[in-house]
Amino acid sequence: MLDRVLSQRRARQFNRIIRNGKLTFLCLFLTVIVLRGNLGAGKFGTPEKDLDEIRETFSYIRRRAEPRRVLEEATTATAAQKSGESTVSGSNNYAEFDITKILKDVDDGVEEFKRDPSLPYSLGPKISDWDQQRGEWLKKNPNFPNFIAENKPRVLLVTGSSPKPCENPVGDHYLLKSIKNKIDYCRLHGIEVFYNMALLDAEMAGFWAKLPLIRKLLLSHPEVEFLWWMDSDAMFTDMAFEVPWERYKDHNFVMHGWNEMIYDQKNWIGLNTGSFLLRNCQWSLDMLDTWAPMGPKGKVREEAGKLLTSELKDRPVFEADDQSAMVYILATQKEKWGNKVYLENHYYLHGYWGILVDRYEEMIENYRPGFGDHRWPLVTHFVGCKPCGKFGDYPVERCLKQMDRAFNFGDNQILQMYGFTHKSLGSRRVKRVRNETSNPLEVRDELGLLHPAFKAVKVSSSS
Ligand code: UDP
Ligand code: MN
Repeated sequence: MLDRVLSQRRARQFNRIIRNGKLTFLCLFLTVIVLRGNLGAGKFGTPEKDLDEIRETFSYIRRRAEPRRVLEEATTATAAQKSGESTVSGSNNYAEFDITKILKDVDDGVEEFKRDPSLPYSLGPKISDWDQQRGEWLKKNPNFPNFIAENKPRVLLVTGSSPKPCENPVGDHYLLKSIKNKIDYCRLHGIEVFYNMALLDAEMAGFWAKLPLIRKLLLSHPEVEFLWWMDSDAMFTDMAFEVPWERYKDHNFVMHGWNEMIYDQKNWIGLNTGSFLLRNCQWSLDMLDTWAPMGPKGKVREEAGKLLTSELKDRPVFEADDQSAMVYILATQKEKWGNKVYLENHYYLHGYWGILVDRYEEMIENYRPGFGDHRWPLVTHFVGCKPCGKFGDYPVERCLKQMDRAFNFGDNQILQMYGFTHKSLGSRRVKRVRNETSNPLEVRDELGLLHPAFKAVKVSSSS
């Protein structure tokens, strides 16, 4: 009949379309059956259950799709290689990869700025009116006050490590633990953190690297009242202790130390420069200028080291370090600097690990966080452990075990807010210390660290 209505050719086409259509329809029907089996609209299931199942199925589909993505990325990488881009080739196995390949620095032969060696070293152009410049800036920028509450200065905690990976395989893991620890303390205390990995001045490598960095940050952040330098090998062990800021209102430089050991004995360990507070003011810039000249690497640093060893009590023979230089400056120029330097020893702004780490259990037994002193030290500093280096001054096993203990000791105070604690000071694993509840806001925050008063900020009424 069709033949009669349409031409023969047209009729054949029409028949083909019908046949194909049937096939397509059959396929569609089968797909729906299979999908329904998989996704299950759930004759007996609840809507939530169905949703879960659908989610599960799609996540499975996504997982299945993963190899394809990897394949596509690999293809792109090969294409990039062909186009001359230097990309990593070969194995996907990190353990087999020769890591030295990426540790080689690519700096395109950029010429470094070289100082005229006949001129004395300086951290930068002389600035002598910083207090005035900063004062005007603060007046013009009332939204960036240098005090965030009464007796609560705006503080920037500065720390850092070398631009290269550590010289031993676990070093970077300890750097990570150490910065995690600092982030925790600073979040609780409303302190901002700057982590530096750039060597801003090649001449000031190693323990001297902090000087150009500190100057740069003071000048770039007039809103910061106090800069808190902290070594990468120092950790907070008292999360509840708030620095008694009011005590330093007439001082510009706070270090852990003892007046007699500096001014009477010139002892090279009479103070420690692994954790200190420096006020953002002209006085501090002058102090940095006075501090820096022994720093430049090479002959200057070596000769200065000899002078320091001969002048300071008990100092071993080695190149000039920032700590000895500070002891020397204070001991020889007490009149000039002494009245603005606060040598603190009522709490551990820095605490030597050797005398603290074996006493943590005793502290837990007898005291609680918040003292900051011998009862519960604010900071435990692993002086001489060199966890990121090749060689330290102490057995590696003792250093690493004790760093773990110090970390866990501090971390327990964080975990307890959320109802957990480390199984022991030596354990990475944690356990629950209270049951979960459906009234989470009623849980007692024993140390008051969830919403501590020292973190609260003034909200200006004008906004
Ligand atoms: N440091 C840095 N960049 C470097 C090397 C060291 O910022 O390239 C910092 C790092 O924070 C380190 C500090 O300088 O903790 C002082 O060194 P270290 O702690 O090893 O000296 P120690 O306290 O043992 O005398
Ligand atoms: Mn240190």
